[in-house]
Amino acid sequence: DELRQKYVKGKKLGEGTYAIVYKGHLRDSPSTLVAIKKIKVNVDYKDGLAMDAIREVKFLQELSHPNIIALHSVYSSKNQNLNLVLEFLPLGDLEGMIKDTSVQYSNADIKAWMGMIGRAVWWCHENFVLHRDIKPNNLLIAGDGEVKLADFGLARSFQEPYLNMTHVVITRWYRPPELFFGARHYSGAVDVWSVGCVFAELALRTPYMAGETDIHQVEIISQAIGTPTEDNWPGVSKLPGYVPIAKDKQVPLRPKRDFEPIFRSIGPVALDLLLATLRLDPRKRISAKGFLQHEWWQMDPRPTKKENLPRKG
Ligand code: ADP
Repeated sequence: DELRQKYVKGKKLGEGTYAIVYKGHLRDSPSTLVAIKKIKVNVDYKDGLAMDAIREVKFLQELSHPNIIALHSVYSSKNQNLNLVLEFLPLGDLEGMIKDTSVQYSNADIKAWMGMIGRAVWWCHENFVLHRDIKPNNLLIAGDGEVKLADFGLARSFQEPYLNMTHVVITRWYRPPELFFGARHYSGAVDVWSVGCVFAELALRTPYMAGETDIHQVEIISQAIGTPTEDNWPGVSKLPGYVPIAKDKQVPLRPKRDFEPIFRSIGPVALDLLLATLRLDPRKRISAKGFLQHEWWQMDPRPTKKENLPRKG
């Protein structure tokens, strides 16, 4: 009750599948803006939804980092609704930047954004949190240009003792192959694949691997990167959801030169890093820490300073 009175709720900012988001401010300091995310617990009551909300709370409160959305407080209102008071991020998200054809951005801008995303994911993994839904729409932009990872509804600590990690996670286009094959014991590598998909999308300005169904998505990954086989991914055929692909339909792992014409704009060293995030075998995929240590970061162009990044009109 005390917490609820600390904030004044303003106009509605938007609505997602399981939440309505309002603008708000601190009662004692009207210039301190916040976003109040009201989780729809009553509407379509499911244990799962309530659990998602509680997870979002638990993880966000522990993760304090410039590239992760800050959670100021949590309170419940009249009808058991859960309200999250979040940092106000007024400049939209990376999806908006990618899609807005009036916005132009350079390789230095992509490098700055990828650095912010990489640091956010590295910090999650250092703290045993998997985000599990990294996509341009969950990368929000702060007033100072900082990109912040948001929407921790699906986040799950990989320290949690129970094994049955549900594999229906991550928006299809950003989902790694091990999840389509029903891997139960997945790791931080799932987020790294999603980071790679965002990297590719920033370069191409269109989603890189946009499947229309789960089966189609596996086919697209297979065409783009290569067909998962015991040769390139030992153990893949033992995964519970693995579907063998006929020999005559298999695509060999694509060499780097196949990607060069598609990703010419970012240059060969950036492509090298991109491909390290898109390895089929999660054990061969680069870690978030390795991502930040790649030689690309030492090369020109330097990442754009956050205050000079492009913004929407
Ligand atoms: P979705 O996942 O569909 O974007 P959300 O419930 O996370 O759904 O958010 C709904 C909308 O509310 C977003 O599209 C965005 O416009 C707005 N929004 C969400 N979080 C914030 C925030 N921290 N600051 C400002 N606006 C936000």
